[in-house]
Amino acid sequence: MKAVSLLGSTGSIGKQTLDVVRQHPEAFHITALTAHRNRKLLLEQINEFQPKIASITRKEDAEWLKTNIDATTIIFNDTEGLLAAASEESAEVVLNALVGSMGLLPTCHAIQAGKTLALANKESLVAGGSLVMKLAKLNQVDLLPVDSEHSAIFQCLRGEKSSQLSRIILTASGGPFRTLSKAVIETTDPSAALKHPNWSMGQKITVDSATMMNKGLEVIEAKWLFNLKTDQIDVLVHPESIIHSMVEFMDTSVIAQLGQPDMRVPIQFALTYPDRYQLDAPRLDLSALAQLNFEKADIDRFPNLRLAFQAMEIGKTMPCVLNAANEKLVPHYLERKVSFYQMADLIESIMSHHVPFDYDSVEAIHEVEQWVEGQVNELIR
Ligand code: NAD
Ligand code: MG
Repeated sequence: MKAVSLLGSTGSIGKQTLDVVRQHPEAFHITALTAHRNRKLLLEQINEFQPKIASITRKEDAEWLKTNIDATTIIFNDTEGLLAAASEESAEVVLNALVGSMGLLPTCHAIQAGKTLALANKESLVAGGSLVMKLAKLNQVDLLPVDSEHSAIFQCLRGEKSSQLSRIILTASGGPFRTLSKAVIETTDPSAALKHPNWSMGQKITVDSATMMNKGLEVIEAKWLFNLKTDQIDVLVHPESIIHSMVEFMDTSVIAQLGQPDMRVPIQFALTYPDRYQLDAPRLDLSALAQLNFEKADIDRFPNLRLAFQAMEIGKTMPCVLNAANEKLVPHYLERKVSFYQMADLIESIMSHHVPFDYDSVEAIHEVEQWVEGQVNELIR
């Protein structure tokens, strides 16, 4: 039985991870759960999975859980609790399903505790990629991608020599604004950004898909996971989200991984790796689909993608600035305080005022993020 610590159990990835665990009670058990605000759902999850420990952000919610649980689970709160879950002694694998770069500290903590890390929290790698990869190497820890594109590439690369890879092709659905003109995108109500055509996900990543910042973050995530150079990463719009990504080798061969858009597949593979288990999920029927479509990514209508490539090329703390500015601006966009293209303009402006430097601690990243937050607040005013 593999013991799993699940950070962010009440979110979209968290709930789907628990679905996978439910399908394989003989293979997995949950040893830690964490949540931010949703104490009612966390209570249900604790009662069902009986973890050793659980944590929630606010102290009053932790007290409420203690008086209401029907389990022997030890309840923690705040960052201390989150880090206790990330390094829980009994856990073999930590699945980080937190959203945002606040996931970086628990990512580093889990690695330093020697845990295999199944990583959904892409912002960890965008903000602190060089630190995360350095710690993973030092602690000889496996980083297993949960993001569907990265799981696809990981699967395509099994048994291959990385020196023989030419490039990767990250597929992108194009999001809900894929076919709209710039003028229409700029005047469309932000509520439309929350309606993704293929995937049901948390709010932040759904907006990131509409702006294509999600693909930009994934480009940087791929660079770190697969040790790639900027010119080895291409983005291809593929509206059906059936091909989850592809790898091209030096002999021109291309290998792709396909399947229905269902996050439980990459989640389960990260938990069962190197094995595959049965999964009770819809199967792919290509004859029913009849066709798959592809388009070039349009960096004019989706400037965040251009900015992400730029930040990656500059390196050092610049991807952290890109990510932090985006994280701070997405809520302002949803509250209609900044428009779609103002978001990209502000990210670009903040990037142009940052002098990137080499970092080697989470604290250094947090300081840069605080500076970005100040910039965003000033520019919004
Ligand atoms: P979500 O918003 O649905 O869930 C986030 C989880 O993190 C929740 O459990 C929440 O309680 C917790 N959390 C949020 N803020 C917190 C805080 N300040 N302190 C402690 N806990 C906090 O997000 P999601 O869609 O599940 O995405 C999670 C991660 O996975 C993101 O990095 C996202 O980019 C990535 N991802 C998601 C999908 C998807 O289909 N949802 C696909 C690929 C990658
Ligand atoms: Mg993805």
